[in-house]
Amino acid sequence: MPGLELTNVGKAFDNAFAIRDVSLNVGPGELACLLGPSGCGKSTLLRLIAGLEHLDAGSVLYDGVDLRGAEPHTRGFGLMFQDLALFPHMDVFGNLGFGLRMQHLTRSAINARVDELLALVDLAGYARRKVHELSGGERQRVALARSLAPSPKLLMLDEPLGSLDRVLRESLQTQIRAILKQVGVTAIYVTHDRDEAFAIADTIVI
Ligand code: ADP
Repeated sequence: MPGLELTNVGKAFDNAFAIRDVSLNVGPGELACLLGPSGCGKSTLLRLIAGLEHLDAGSVLYDGVDLRGAEPHTRGFGLMFQDLALFPHMDVFGNLGFGLRMQHLTRSAINARVDELLALVDLAGYARRKVHELSGGERQRVALARSLAPSPKLLMLDEPLGSLDRVLRESLQTQIRAILKQVGVTAIYVTHDRDEAFAIADTIVI
């Protein structure tokens, strides 16, 4: 099966399993939510997929390729965290262009990609805004655009709306789902909020 395949994945800290025997498939373009209470191992599972932690058991495959030993930056996966702040000293353009400059794209390719991303998150014309001039919801949309900028094969979002109030969260849930579906990216979204999982997901993993 193409996409992400976890088979009997396990991870122990201090000789106790934080994750045991997790098997899961996320197909191409699927939007899966990991739903569970704090401490159940959701973030650890994302870190294992990203390659930020090493597996103690099982396997992680993407499009049939075993990722054991693959460095995080070689996996082509993106991450968006609640506390992964935007660069405060850069404007929106600087934030969105950062990863693209690292990929050595030409200036005109970067300009075109930033325009495309801003249109995607409904922030056309915001390129020269400073981060502190943005509302909370606008910041989250810029953060989402930044995580999508390098066209990740898989995007992982770890409680990205955790710090926002309820009204804003609900409006962003709808927007995030629409944006991820428009891009067609395979995604895993972590939340402890059941309503959020139902608002966002194609598939819910409990
Ligand atoms: P969740 O994201 O669902 O809140 P976590 O994946 O953060 O849960 O944590 C799962 C369990 O693993 C918790 O008991 C946590 O204390 C433990 N844990 C996570 N990271 C570490 C670590 N680096 N060292 C020791 N224990 C850890």
